[in-house]
Amino acid sequence: MAWNVVVVGGGFGGYNAVRTIEKKFSEEAVKVTLVSEQNYLLYTPFLPEAAAGTLEPRHVVTPLRDLLHGSRLALGSMTGLDVGRKVVQVRNEEGDPVELRYDRLVLSPGSVSRTLPIPGLAEHGAQFKSLADAIWLRNHVIRSLELAETVRDPRRLDELLTFVFVGGGYAGLEALAELQDFATDALEMYPAAREHGMRWMLVEAADRVLRELDPKLAEYTVRELRKRGIDVRLDTQLREVTATDILLSTGERVETRTLVWTAGVKPSPLVADLGLPLDETGRIVVDAEMRVEGAEDIWAIGDAAAVPNPIDPERSSPPTAQHARRQGIAAGLNVAASLGKGRAKPYSYKDRGSFVNLGRYKAVAMTGKLRVRGPLAWWMARTYHVSQIASFSRKLRAVIDWTVSLPFGRDVSEVGSIGHPRRLDGSLTNASQSQSQSRADQK
Ligand SMILES: Cc1cc2nc3c(=O)[nH]c(=O)nc-3n(C[C@H](O)[C@H](O)[C@H](O)COP(=O)(O)OP(=O)(O)OC[C@H]3O[C@@H](n4cnc5c(N)ncnc54)[C@H](O)[C@@H]3O)c2cc1C
Repeated sequence: MAWNVVVVGGGFGGYNAVRTIEKKFSEEAVKVTLVSEQNYLLYTPFLPEAAAGTLEPRHVVTPLRDLLHGSRLALGSMTGLDVGRKVVQVRNEEGDPVELRYDRLVLSPGSVSRTLPIPGLAEHGAQFKSLADAIWLRNHVIRSLELAETVRDPRRLDELLTFVFVGGGYAGLEALAELQDFATDALEMYPAAREHGMRWMLVEAADRVLRELDPKLAEYTVRELRKRGIDVRLDTQLREVTATDILLSTGERVETRTLVWTAGVKPSPLVADLGLPLDETGRIVVDAEMRVEGAEDIWAIGDAAAVPNPIDPERSSPPTAQHARRQGIAAGLNVAASLGKGRAKPYSYKDRGSFVNLGRYKAVAMTGKLRVRGPLAWWMARTYHVSQIASFSRKLRAVIDWTVSLPFGRDVSEVGSIGHPRRLDGSLTNASQSQSQSRADQK
């Protein structure tokens, strides 16, 4: 009889766990089911480039059905866990409950944005976690530039042409840098906005950015951003957000209609409901082999798990794709070992270098003692990321996108209506209705 292995979460951790197990066993010996909310793997390091338009949005995702070899994909959300009956409860796209029996279970549901109870943040802040967020932000920046061409009131121009990002982690910093670079190039086509000038601001509560990375690379990045005219505020907190301005802990009010909140992540809310042990940050407690404490047949990895960091065993691994991917492979090998193939090993990690993309042909990179910036760092980052993309066709498409964008200017088409068609009677579909309603509410 075949073993049933269930993996939850089709991101960096879950996908790599599935592929590792698939390679070890025949389909007859082990039936692997991947439970995923999307039918694609999202390469998050490329989201800022999808927002800036240097990469076509569909080229930053790869269909999971192309990537899996013999495993089953169950599209839906895990809603519960019955450890006694060894069953994972799932809801499919239509809301129907489905039960999946497991002999071995790997949990990798990732993280969500960590917000704070700041007045107005939930209503007026945007996040930057998904492909939908990236596409929305790009369209929003273009819409703001377009609107600015039709406005004369200097205060409204300030609101439209000021873009504030809160949180100096990977996601916020790269998104800010890419979009500022995009908007600076695009300004050529917007005379009124060019005359008034744009303002881009990064607000970070700590005294440094990129806490996951070496402090020297972080300092280097801040210097680079400031050189480009980005207003980087360290040791500064966001206190209040309205539809047209924000209040900072320095007492300063900044007129803006764009507040992007990227101040950290917390584990997927799913993990709080599973009855598994959690650490003080809400991540699932696992041992060095990524086995959940007290649960023999369950492993947890990625942003949702507190995996001891091999480089610094006092702490958990930081929530990065580099860790999630390698934990996926290591957990896959340990699951295989529990089914009789190989020996279980603790999670180990070797840093292969860090890169921060700062826009078209600009980046900072650190590998070993080497620190590089500018086009060479950008090229090193490209080479690294291309090597990490799961499918050959997506590698090729990314390289083609970069090459094709070389000789051309920025594309400023605003295509926010994609996926929101009008009905035959001219009314908006539900999705577009709620979008335009929330925009109207903001005014
Ligand atoms: C914009 C951005 C840029 C980033 N850049 C970098 C970078 O350059 N380098 C780096 O190392 N890291 C980067 N990261 C961080 C990196 O993306 C995460 O650390 C990594 O994705 C974590 O992997 P994971 O498998 O834990 O979660 P994810 O990759 O997020 O995958 C989790 C999956 O589980 C699914 N899921 C959640 N709940 C359920 C449920 N109940 N049922 C079924 N499925 C569920 C989610 O939909 C998702 O598909 C970036 C993140 C962002 C947002």
